[in-house]
Amino acid sequence: MHKSIKNNNKKRGRFAPSPTGALHLGNARTFLLTWLSIKIQSGELILRIEDLDHPKVKPGTIKEAVDDLIWLGLTWNEGYGIEQKQLNPPYIQSQRTDIYAKHLSNLIEKKLVYPCTCSRKEIEATQSAPHAGESPKYPGTCKNKFQSWEEAYNALPDSRIPIWRFKSSNESISFVDGFMGEQSFNNSELFGDFAIARHQQGAGYMLAVVVDDALMNISEVVRGSDLLDSTPRQLEIYKALQLHPPEFIHVPLVVAPDGRRLAKRHGDTRISTLRKIGNSPEKIIGLLAYWCGWAEFGEEMPANELLKRFSWNTLNPENVILTNEIKKYLNIQD
Ligand code: GLU
Ligand code: ZN
Repeated sequence: MHKSIKNNNKKRGRFAPSPTGALHLGNARTFLLTWLSIKIQSGELILRIEDLDHPKVKPGTIKEAVDDLIWLGLTWNEGYGIEQKQLNPPYIQSQRTDIYAKHLSNLIEKKLVYPCTCSRKEIEATQSAPHAGESPKYPGTCKNKFQSWEEAYNALPDSRIPIWRFKSSNESISFVDGFMGEQSFNNSELFGDFAIARHQQGAGYMLAVVVDDALMNISEVVRGSDLLDSTPRQLEIYKALQLHPPEFIHVPLVVAPDGRRLAKRHGDTRISTLRKIGNSPEKIIGLLAYWCGWAEFGEEMPANELLKRFSWNTLNPENVILTNEIKKYLNIQD
């Protein structure tokens, strides 16, 4: 009761980096927008570490992300690294598995999830046309197949464990994105029943992000448009758990000249590297601002300066391209 009164009027946003890789220019731009939107509303920003993707988590990456954010001047006031303000601890997802387990049990009781033993290969074999990159649509093979997780587990060789799938609805899920406007998706047609957890206890991106954003009272989620189509899946989970969803604001990405996602082969765009090779935070923020449409190319400024220029209405709606000219400007080697 107290908490909801206290947080009623304040906007709450979050930085949610995954320590599977260092922050690069694309992450930095999304975080700058997250920060600006909350700052101009005098809201609160939380740092939460999304480290559930175990085999891919790299040591030292959390500290590096924290250092990068501070170096860029993108500050937060609750959560990881802020000892004096811990309203919903812990802020590291791998330490929150008991919380996810509780919510997963709720979904199991409601018969909204089931264990699935299919490998990606098995699912791909059921498709008429292969989907590039994205998970292939799940045909429902394991629906009504197993009575329990244990039964599914025992059906697999030792090296593999089942995942949990959520029974997606066949209705269109509509929402208004704070930047991209009206959206409508049919989860069942696009994804089939979708994976929400890769562990028996429910620790997996789709479930964890919903539970955390809800319990941490997040009111706006700013993230890359590559996550746009995960929103309708998350909205189904919010509804099933009777939790209140935040506003979603999906923003354009930084891409390579070929239009593809930034990858190692496009040069080292890690913030930590750009810093080491002599770029100042003002130079990086200035470039991010140029990409947003709020600065001339070559202008340098601290993040604070952008509070005067920020508006969702004037943000460049296109993905931005890391051109060779920009790579040269930042001294990025191929
Ligand atoms: N941790 C996710 C990522 O770094 C972001 C999740 C989200 O914003 O929902 O891609
Ligand atoms: Zn299956």
